[in-house]
Amino acid sequence: MTAADAHPPHNVRAPGPTAHDATAPAPPRVTAAGPAPHDITAPDFTPHAVATVLGSAVGDALGAPFEFGPGGAFSARFPRAGHGSEMCGGGGWDPGEATDDTQMAVLVGESLLECGGLELPDIFRRFQRWAAARPKDIGLQTEDVLTNGEPWDRAAALHFQVNQRAAGNGALMRAATSAVHFAGRGRDATMDAGRRIAALTHGDRAAWEGTAIFHEVVRVALAGGDPLTALPDTLAAVHPDHRARYATVLAPDWHPDQATEFNGAVWPCLGSAVWALRTTDSYEEALRAAVDIGGDTDTVAAVTGGLAGAVYGPDAIPRRWTEPLHVPLPGFGDRVLGAAELAGLARRLAA
Ligand SMILES: [Mg+2]
Repeated sequence: MTAADAHPPHNVRAPGPTAHDATAPAPPRVTAAGPAPHDITAPDFTPHAVATVLGSAVGDALGAPFEFGPGGAFSARFPRAGHGSEMCGGGGWDPGEATDDTQMAVLVGESLLECGGLELPDIFRRFQRWAAARPKDIGLQTEDVLTNGEPWDRAAALHFQVNQRAAGNGALMRAATSAVHFAGRGRDATMDAGRRIAALTHGDRAAWEGTAIFHEVVRVALAGGDPLTALPDTLAAVHPDHRARYATVLAPDWHPDQATEFNGAVWPCLGSAVWALRTTDSYEEALRAAVDIGGDTDTVAAVTGGLAGAVYGPDAIPRRWTEPLHVPLPGFGDRVLGAAELAGLARRLAA
């Protein structure tokens, strides 16, 4: 599961004015000379890493009550940005309650810290323990892979052999913690880690590549680059068999209406998140746009929130969204993480 084709490292330049944020001041974390390709040791790297993890969790909780609903439902209920109690709960979720997306991301993050690195069997065991505790929400495929009794390195592949459909967004949705942890290792290392963790539950390489792209986009943002400008280079590092399909959904003129699958699939989910980032100018607006797409709103917003958090940093995430945030961890006692615990986890992962 290594990258099939190696490419020279991409030099991430300091962000200048772009079509994306022509009016935004350059982030202060970048020196005038710009960062070295893999230099994310600038003083305020950690806050943006925290915002990646926190931003994803907030998106998950914000979108959960609207899951499987129609497009436009969020803005119809909350027409004015910056106002209202958008962390409204519903559909079985308490206000601010994060779902499987964030729960699994926490499990990955805690495994990385407690094992001192990537121990795939340990992550798989934590996933199994969590799945056995019957979480409120779990993807059908993820549940099957985690409960079919097969070993960690065969369960997902066997599921894919039998079902031939395994390109859901269930690996992409939980990637914020690992993306933060591996961002300092450079492009190839972070994309490879993304692929390996995705493969624990998803046998389809399309899911690996989508998760790898998310890892790299976060890395570029944390390095002070513009992840949208860097997308062509990111795509060059995608497995050739999957490059064209991702190029389509990540193209500047792609719109979620053009999706050819439900956004529970990995391609339109990632494409929609990047679209939400590209077509807005703030964390809050990106998240409003993501939830308003409808469909798999918790996951599209979790992915969007991770990207927008990495780009805009923690001060951009509304406090009225982080205050009610909480992450139950089924299978792990009565643990419930709040925003402060999530931020602490992110800080340790970025250290
Ligand atoms: Mg979910």
